[in-house]
Amino acid sequence: TFLSWCDKVCADSVRGNVKGFLVRTNADQPEDAKRAFDFGAQGVGLCRTEHMFFDKEKLIHFRTMIVADTEEARKEALKKILPLQKKDFFGIFKAMEGRPVTIRLLDPPLHEFVPHTKEEVAELAEHLGVKPKDLQPKIDKLHEANPMLGHRGCRLAVTYPEIYDMQVEAIVLAAIDCVKKNIPVKPEIMIPIVCDEQELALLRPRAEAIIKKNLEKAKVKLDIQIGTMIEVPRAALLADKIAAFADFFSFGTNDLTQMTFAFSRDDVGSFMPAYEKLGLLDVDPFKSVDEEGVGMLMNWATTKGRSVKSDLKVGICGEQGGDPATIDFCFRTGLNYVSCSPFRVPIARLTAAQAVLRNTKK
Ligand code: PEP
Ligand code: MG
Repeated sequence: TFLSWCDKVCADSVRGNVKGFLVRTNADQPEDAKRAFDFGAQGVGLCRTEHMFFDKEKLIHFRTMIVADTEEARKEALKKILPLQKKDFFGIFKAMEGRPVTIRLLDPPLHEFVPHTKEEVAELAEHLGVKPKDLQPKIDKLHEANPMLGHRGCRLAVTYPEIYDMQVEAIVLAAIDCVKKNIPVKPEIMIPIVCDEQELALLRPRAEAIIKKNLEKAKVKLDIQIGTMIEVPRAALLADKIAAFADFFSFGTNDLTQMTFAFSRDDVGSFMPAYEKLGLLDVDPFKSVDEEGVGMLMNWATTKGRSVKSDLKVGICGEQGGDPATIDFCFRTGLNYVSCSPFRVPIARLTAAQAVLRNTKK
């Protein structure tokens, strides 16, 4: 059949140290993961964990955590979210039947969680048993003028280490449940918006300690890789230093494109049509990786990363990962996998096989 032909072509491909070329999916819910699996996804390349915090029940605990004054109070608030996170992760692991699942720790700007309206402030104040006017100054301090370049990704974990602690624990506990129920599981933990190795040097040992403690307590053996997104140009440039602290890289080309071009990923509609009309750009760089700029950073980061760790696994999880020209580029650059949204998986499987054939000498 079509998928087994793709399997054979892609699994047999070898470039230097890199064997195989896989298509994973971006999935945040068990249903998405299951659908993508049925379409032929060979793993989850990106599970964005943020949606899990935005429903009303979790949001109030998360907001409580943001404004808490002590570590104890922060932990207490996060404890209420932990079982819900664990349930989500378990569902995704189960749907993927032992294929690798990369779970990305919390990324969106803190700004998005901060109460904005009077009613939201009043609701939080009531939950905390304080007066809204006493809470307001604390909230005002958390607002940012440019949240996408502000308090987000691993920076959240530098200020609030308890968030990633809770998420890592939920991942390990969900994986342990799988093992105990004989469900094959291969979790990977990914850290976003890293801009140099020092952030990983701080956050990685913390995650490792939580993994070790929980595995030992449950008497379960499991290898859980910890990797990083490469989505800040500085991280791409410093990839050799970063590789020392990462088991894998995944290019977040949505942010990498935004930060390389200084084009807002959310607002290109305002000028891109004029660019296209005048032929100023060959392709919209958010649709297809710009090989001259963003692609150079990807190539540099892959080469530098592997100069330190020859078996460093490298993938892409930005939207462009499902684009045929980008898939071809990723194969040529030596990536191990691309990851795209579930409905793009079948075409991506075919395109990946074509890329292997086109770029492999007979
Ligand atoms: C990216 O930046 O390409 C990415 C995959 O992360 P997000 O879109 O969630 O910022
Ligand atoms: Mg990103």
